[in-house]
Amino acid sequence: MTPEERDAPIYATFTELYSRGFSLDIGICVFVAGIHVAAIALGVWAAVFAPADWALVAGVWALSHFVLGSVSTTLYTHRLITHNATKKVSAPVHLFFCAFGQIFGVQGSVRAWAANHVLHHGVDRHGKKEIDPYSATWFPDPLRNFLWSHTLTHLFNHPESDERRRAYKATRHKVIMWQDRYYGLLTTFWLFLFPMGLGYAWGGWSGFFALLAGSMIGSVLVQHNTWTVNSVTHMWGWTKGLRSSAANNYVWLGPFGEGNHHGDHHDLPRDYRNGFGWSGWLLDPTRYGILLLRALRLIGPLNRASKREEAEVLASRKLAKLEARSRLCTEASELYQQFEARVLELRKDWLEAVSRWESLRKESKLMQQATARRDEIAHEIRAAKALVEARKEEFFAAVERLHAQIPSYAN
Ligand SMILES: [Zn+2]
Ligand SMILES: [Zn+2]
Repeated sequence: MTPEERDAPIYATFTELYSRGFSLDIGICVFVAGIHVAAIALGVWAAVFAPADWALVAGVWALSHFVLGSVSTTLYTHRLITHNATKKVSAPVHLFFCAFGQIFGVQGSVRAWAANHVLHHGVDRHGKKEIDPYSATWFPDPLRNFLWSHTLTHLFNHPESDERRRAYKATRHKVIMWQDRYYGLLTTFWLFLFPMGLGYAWGGWSGFFALLAGSMIGSVLVQHNTWTVNSVTHMWGWTKGLRSSAANNYVWLGPFGEGNHHGDHHDLPRDYRNGFGWSGWLLDPTRYGILLLRALRLIGPLNRASKREEAEVLASRKLAKLEARSRLCTEASELYQQFEARVLELRKDWLEAVSRWESLRKESKLMQQATARRDEIAHEIRAAKALVEARKEEFFAAVERLHAQIPSYAN
C-alpha cells in the first residue's frame, strides 16, 4: 500500500459517520464540555477576582495536574502498558499510576486507552485505517481531519469490530482491570472531591474554588496536550520516507516526549525511547522517568531497537528521496540503475558494519567480568564504530549525488 492509498479519505463529512454506525456519546460530551466551561469560568475567577495567593495556588495546582497527567499517560499507559516496553511492571508502579497518576490524564481508563492505542498503531501493520480511532486522514480536508483526530473522535461511540473487541479484551494486570471498573469513581474523587475538600479545609470557599479551578484548568490542558499527538504529529512534519502513518518531527515536547519523533515511535513502537540519537535524549523526558524506575528495579529490562533496526529505518527514509524520481530516458535509465545498485550496495555495507559493531558491543558486555582481551576488544569496537560512520557517510553521500543527478536523466 502506498502512502497515497493509505492517506486517501474514506468519509466525506461528519454526518456520514452516523450512517456508518457512529453515535454521539452524550455523557462524554457533557463531561468534556463541562470541564471546558468550568476551566474558563474558574480561570477568569482566579485571574480577576480571587485573592492573589489563591490565584497562585490555582496556577500551581493546574501545572502539577498537567505534569502528572501527561507523564502518567506517556510513561505508564503508553510506553510501559500499551507497547510493553518491559515485560515486568511491579505492583507499586501499577498502583501508583492506576489509583492516582493516570486519572489526572483525563482520557479514560488505562484499559480503554491501551485498546484504542493498539488500533491506532494497527494501521501501520494491516492498513485498516477505518478502525484507527484517531485517524487524521479520514476526511478530505485538513480542518475536519484536525477536529476529528484532536477532539471529536473522543465524543463518539465507534462501531464494534473484531479487532476492537480483541484489543479491549487483552489480558491486563488485575490493578488495571480494577481501575477500569472504578474509573468513574476514581475520577470523581481525584478531579472533584479531593481538590474541593482539601481547598475548603485549607481556606474556605476561596480555597474550594482555587483548587477546583486548578483541577479543571489542569484537566483541559492535559487533554489538549495529549490530543495534539494524534492530530498535529499525524498531520504535519518534515521527515520524508516514514514507514508509518505519523508525520514527525516537531521540536515540541508534546506530553513530555511523544510529540517529538512521533514517526520514530511509529516505526519502532516497542522501543521504550521516543527518538534516536542525541535529539532523542534531549527531547524525551519521559525516558528519564522510565530509566529511573528501572534503576530502582521497579520495572524489568527495557526493550529498545537494535542499532541495526535504527539504521534500517534511517536508510529507508534516505532512500525515499530517490523514489520520487521523474521519468528517465532509456539510456539514462540504464546508467541510473547502475548508480542505484551501487547505492543499495552501500546501504548493505553500512548495515553490515552496524551489525558487526553491535555484536562486538554485546561480546564486550559478556566479557565485562573477564579482564583478558578487554583492551583489545575496546579497540575493535572503536574501529567498528568508525567504520559504521564512514559507511553511513558514503551511503548518504551516494543518495545525495544520485538525487542531485535525477534532473539530468529526466526526459
Ligand atoms: Zn500516533
Ligand atoms: Zn504508541
